Amino acid sequence: MISAPMAEPASASKMEKIVALCKRRGFIFQSSEIYGGLNGAWDYGPLGVELKRNLKDYWWKCMTQLRDDIVGFDGSILMNAAVWKASGHVDTFSDPMVECLLTKKRYRADQSEPQSGTAYYYTVQKTVQDGLTEFVGSRGDFPTAYGGSHYHFSVLVPKGKSEASANKVARQYYAQIGLPDEVALDAQTSEPVENTIKFNPENGAQLSEPKVFNLMFKTYVGPVQDDSSVTYLRPETAQAMFVQFKNVLEVARKKLPFGIAQIGKAFRNEINPRNFTFRSREFEQMEVEFFVKPGTGPEWLEKWKEDRLAWYEAIGIPRAKIHVLTVPDADRAFYSQGTYDLEYEFPFGVQELEGIAHRGDYDLKQHQEASGKPLEYFDEETKQKYLPEVVEPSAGVDRTVLALLCEAYAEETVKDEESGKEETRVVLRFAPRMAPVKAGIFPLLKNKPELVATARAVQKLLQPLMKVSYDEAGSIGKRYRRIDEEGTPFGITIDFETLEGAKEAFTSATGTPIQAGQKDTVTLRHRDSMKQERIAIADLPGYLARAII
Ligand code: ATP
Repeated sequence: MISAPMAEPASASKMEKIVALCKRRGFIFQSSEIYGGLNGAWDYGPLGVELKRNLKDYWWKCMTQLRDDIVGFDGSILMNAAVWKASGHVDTFSDPMVECLLTKKRYRADQSEPQSGTAYYYTVQKTVQDGLTEFVGSRGDFPTAYGGSHYHFSVLVPKGKSEASANKVARQYYAQIGLPDEVALDAQTSEPVENTIKFNPENGAQLSEPKVFNLMFKTYVGPVQDDSSVTYLRPETAQAMFVQFKNVLEVARKKLPFGIAQIGKAFRNEINPRNFTFRSREFEQMEVEFFVKPGTGPEWLEKWKEDRLAWYEAIGIPRAKIHVLTVPDADRAFYSQGTYDLEYEFPFGVQELEGIAHRGDYDLKQHQEASGKPLEYFDEETKQKYLPEVVEPSAGVDRTVLALLCEAYAEETVKDEESGKEETRVVLRFAPRMAPVKAGIFPLLKNKPELVATARAVQKLLQPLMKVSYDEAGSIGKRYRRIDEEGTPFGITIDFETLEGAKEAFTSATGTPIQAGQKDTVTLRHRDSMKQERIAIADLPGYLARAII
């Protein structure tokens, strides 16, 4: 949405804090930062890549391991250009674009926010004769017979704002064609306008007429750069799964309903990338093409909606934060027979995380016709051949990572665990299965070799099972704060009781009784409650593995 920069301050600052934390802790960096960045491209740092990997691995596990009606697939990013012609992307994968005549910034015309106010219209006439340039500013239009070039421009100012502010914007525009300051611009025509989308809400300047802009990145395959070598970076992962439908069907030995799952990069030359990673030009998708018997698409659409809502809960995004939008007929992609958008309450607004579309048999039909190769399914029971219908849950990896970060981010006033003083702690409350690092391991003191050796041994014990971190620098309280900010759910401290034996008998975190004097127990500290309890080192692998699965 192009809207005036006046977002709610609390949410704006929450987003700013998240962006800052992402850089500080190594979740997400701007791509090519030292060269000024590249708009719409992002790099995931050491923690970000773990978070993203956990997310993708869990999706993959849910789709291809925990159910036996979906098989995995990994298609190429570059495909024969005929794929994109048949799928409709060459002709229709576009957004209407408008350009601000003053700043040259481009926006999606269909995302403009209607505005009301007073529109001021200007014309400046420029003639060049015998090498001399003359300018005249005018009310309304000059008759064309007057000669020279005419530069029309208009400005919208909100109700109650002065004409002078419109003149100021117009003067900036005309300065670009060399209009000197002394040429008067105060003789415009003006009129009140309601709900117009012809002006840039950021500065009131006139926008160009909408132009259709194809979002695919064009490239050339091979050394000759001509029309015959053109193809595109895929704007979605789906098409490879459609064009390989027959091959996969033959090897998978599955009956309908069955699906193909894929995770991979997609590229869209978005007109206006924004909201951190939310709208990027390079991103990853997690998509299933689920093939079903004709006529059963609508019921599968409902099943997938419920399935996906439960999945978001399982990764730590509560049901209450997801809005299900039934996409109205007028807004649906032309091939869709029904679409739900699952939207999340981001700090910058409720926005799409995933689209679940009943695509009918559109894609298979298009590819069958264009390639001349049959893509029908032979139904053993009815002895009929037909094109299956497809239901497609299509989720964005990067948008879900962003939602996980927004959902996890919390600031709270707590008592320092050592000094007892009140302080603000920043904590990322990731669901343990999503957390980039599962446990931080700390020897209480770094100058006690026995503590360090035991801590290193605990690290070795856990490393084959999960990502852990080791830290011996600074006070234990500081080390806990650091892992809180990284979202690590467990802290494990090796202390003197570990070496000397438990001071008294107690029940371990796993429920096992621990005798007084028993060695090799450690402090287990929980990120969210900050509660501490003791557990035997031998019980750690089982306890943690269950907590993070
Ligand atoms: P939008 O309306 O936000 O542009 P879309 O409806 O075009 O999204 P789909 O084509 O349905 O998106 O793509 C499926 C998913 O891919 C989206 O739900 C989103 O999570 C992700 N996605 C699409 N475009 C982008 C992008 N530019 N940056 C990051 N993720 C994206």
